[in-house]
Amino acid sequence: MPELPEVETYRRFLDELLLQQTVAQLEVFDAHVLAVPEAELRQAVVGATVTGTRRLGKNLFLELSTGPVLALHFGMTGDVGAYRDEHDRPRFTRVALELADGLRVAFTDPRKFGRIRLADSVAEFQRQKKLGPDALDLTVEELAASLARKKTLIKPLLLDQRLTAGLGNWIVDEVLFQAGLHPERVAGSLTPAEVGRLHAAIGLVLRTAIEQEAHYRHFPTTFLIHAREWDTYPVAGSDAYKYCPNDQEAIVKKYVGGRATYFCPVCQKEH
Ligand SMILES: [Zn+2]
Repeated sequence: MPELPEVETYRRFLDELLLQQTVAQLEVFDAHVLAVPEAELRQAVVGATVTGTRRLGKNLFLELSTGPVLALHFGMTGDVGAYRDEHDRPRFTRVALELADGLRVAFTDPRKFGRIRLADSVAEFQRQKKLGPDALDLTVEELAASLARKKTLIKPLLLDQRLTAGLGNWIVDEVLFQAGLHPERVAGSLTPAEVGRLHAAIGLVLRTAIEQEAHYRHFPTTFLIHAREWDTYPVAGSDAYKYCPNDQEAIVKKYVGGRATYFCPVCQKEH
């Protein structure tokens, strides 16, 4: 599922291709992903110059010279691509923007849970969807204020997009591991020092993931993510991924708030 790091990688790709470019044509191959009438989308996009790219959590925005912003959400399997000739069109292209020079930018999505919509502005979209500040912009003061006196468990609270936008399931597990906090700690029980560690860990995990363009295999071996067995562990033939990189304790899997949760029972002690 495209999380914040993937979407930031898509944003950088689109920024390179689309910034200050004018859209000559809109091609809709499957209207299922449109959450706006096609005619309205066409009117906003065709002839518009892309004046900026933005991201908020897992949402990507193209700012258009015609006024509105095009908001892209990638659902389970959404991605972006580029092609020139029809026979190179990526499989599962649902919508494509054709530029004046013939380059086409594709929104691909095999499972079609992704959505394309229009919004007046990023701020308006944020209000409507009740999204908190982007996880990379969240300050330690904002984080401390949202945890204070909360009786909720820390993991489900961090997943709540009203607190901050862009923290998904594996990201929260990694953040809590890097901060040395048990996923079932009561949010309001964190000391200021722990909140500081949590904030630093959010930055570390997101920046590392973006640097590696969300290729999990390339993440440092000090990361917990390898325990999820999504990808080949960096050291071939090793089962080290099943154990904590700090103390070789077996990583525990447990459901917290209904979500699969991985943690080290030694580094992340229950209070
Ligand atoms: Zn450990």
